[in-house]
Amino acid sequence: MSKKEDNKQNQHYYEKKNGWEEMDRKTVMSHAAAYKEFLSLCKTERESVDYFIQQAEQVGFAPFKAEDYRKGYKFYFNNRGKSLIMGVVGEESLLSGFSLLGAHVDAPRLDLKAQPLYEDDGMALLKTHYYGGIKKYQWLSIPLAIHGVIVLESGEAKRIVLGEADDEPVFTIADLLPHLAKDQMLKPMNKAVEGEGLNVLLGAIPCEDKEEESRIKSNVMNLLHARFGIKEEDLISAELEVVPSGRARDVGLDEAFIGGYGQDDRICAYAAAEALLTAGELKHSSLVLLSDKEEIGSNGNTGAQGRFLEYSVAMMAQAEGLHGLSVMGSIMDRSKALSADVSAAVDPNYKNLFDKYNAPELGKGILLTKYTGSGGKYEANDASAEYMGEIRRIFNAGGVIWQAGELGKIDQGGGGTIAMYLAQLGIETVDSGPALLGMHSPFEIADKTDIYNTYLGYKVFLERS
Ligand code: MN
Ligand code: MN
Repeated sequence: MSKKEDNKQNQHYYEKKNGWEEMDRKTVMSHAAAYKEFLSLCKTERESVDYFIQQAEQVGFAPFKAEDYRKGYKFYFNNRGKSLIMGVVGEESLLSGFSLLGAHVDAPRLDLKAQPLYEDDGMALLKTHYYGGIKKYQWLSIPLAIHGVIVLESGEAKRIVLGEADDEPVFTIADLLPHLAKDQMLKPMNKAVEGEGLNVLLGAIPCEDKEEESRIKSNVMNLLHARFGIKEEDLISAELEVVPSGRARDVGLDEAFIGGYGQDDRICAYAAAEALLTAGELKHSSLVLLSDKEEIGSNGNTGAQGRFLEYSVAMMAQAEGLHGLSVMGSIMDRSKALSADVSAAVDPNYKNLFDKYNAPELGKGILLTKYTGSGGKYEANDASAEYMGEIRRIFNAGGVIWQAGELGKIDQGGGGTIAMYLAQLGIETVDSGPALLGMHSPFEIADKTDIYNTYLGYKVFLERS
């Protein structure tokens, strides 16, 4: 035994592991390549839900039916195409509690307003209303795409993806040139670009009809009609999301990272779904909740504050012959969840905003975050020591590389996840997911070993005894 190994055996201090030192690099790289495909394809909550349903159906999942309920039954509940629960019935009764991985599939973006289209200074533009926490300047002068759905008066829904294919035009919001930015440059960052200034460039060619009032706007409307059969009023009943255009990429000369849009929190959604779909024997029934609206407070009937999870569990309970509010209470009380969401990795450019003794580091594994929130732990789910101990035990036994950490310095800000909404149902809950660089930017960075350890952590959690 070398001196170093001998020292390690006797050490009582805690040392993080580096994923790149410990893991098979080929496995890590090929796993990340599959994730990169998903990330390139799915840029909205609806696209993500569609993707996971398709993946799940390929391995035998089907829409929930009480009469099919039995051990090993694979099912899903689709909540309006924007939120999803996938599940597998375990060996034991629901009364022993279920295992839950709760991630979200919405991401910060620019939504089109209900009446987005206008013409000004010889150009047609689209008005947007940003969704979630963005730094507005990051959305200027980059190629953008439009993804979403338009519902016609007939009720027919048209799915739209514009600005992704190589032979397709993209969109953009032009930034102010530095030459005229003398005043702007003196403004604080949150004032330098206004919400009402995020207008997307759409066109400049006038329609043939010289009698028309707004000939450029009219021309783009004609193009939209020719392509999708829509008229302007249809845009009122639409959800069109302006997102960064282009594919996710390998980042770094050594290709250690994946860069792409929406990794908060599709990295966890992907890992959670993958964990459920590849899990072995399950003692406890296992659920993956893919939630919507997390970035704006988890509100609404597709957000984690809604009743979707409770009602889905109630339907499972009924299928097992379990009824009543107190039974639901017992089930929730005995259930265990990982709130599968990302955190912020220490950034060498902004070291002073992190507590270096407690900051998550890229490549050091999936995080276990006892509490999120801000200031004095406000709005936090503060997981119990007992539950932290249990997950730590599960991760260690499963060979997962993991680390503990919290998001940034105490008084610098903070953030929340759906953890508190899971916990208020009675479910034992702790936050766990990878750390990112450039979180909430159009190009977020994740370490490839962290992506793998997140999957592994979720899998051994579902397979818990
Ligand atoms: Mn998140
Ligand atoms: Mn977020």
